[in-house]
Amino acid sequence: MNTANPSCATSSGSAPGGGGSSSGSGGSSGGGGPCGACKFLRRKCVAGCIFAPYFDSEQGAAHFAAVHKVFGASNRLDAVVTICYEAQARLRDPVYGCVAHIFALQQQVHIILTYLLILNTLIPQLTS
Ligand SMILES: [Zn+2]
Repeated sequence: MNTANPSCATSSGSAPGGGGSSSGSGGSSGGGGPCGACKFLRRKCVAGCIFAPYFDSEQGAAHFAAVHKVFGASNRLDAVVTICYEAQARLRDPVYGCVAHIFALQQQVHIILTYLLILNTLIPQLTS
């Protein structure tokens, strides 16, 4: 069993403004409405908004709401640790990633519960 310590030594390599924007409909920091994060947080979206490259004005609010609900506003460390863990799991298993680990743990739970059921039926027979 691997007690994975998702130590994320590499600070994210790709800067958001470094290359071509892969998100469709352009960044919202320049022209359109506020980015999704600022829309969700109901605040003014400034020109260099750090969220704008990641949360566009169309679906970004829903995406940011999901991230906010799962990780909260102050749990950036948890978010980074989660991303690092999932990235490492994806490198180990490109197809299933961390889901493979979850499946393995579910199988272990199922096997252990089966053993427990067997033992619970055998113990009264042995003691009587
Ligand atoms: Zn913004």
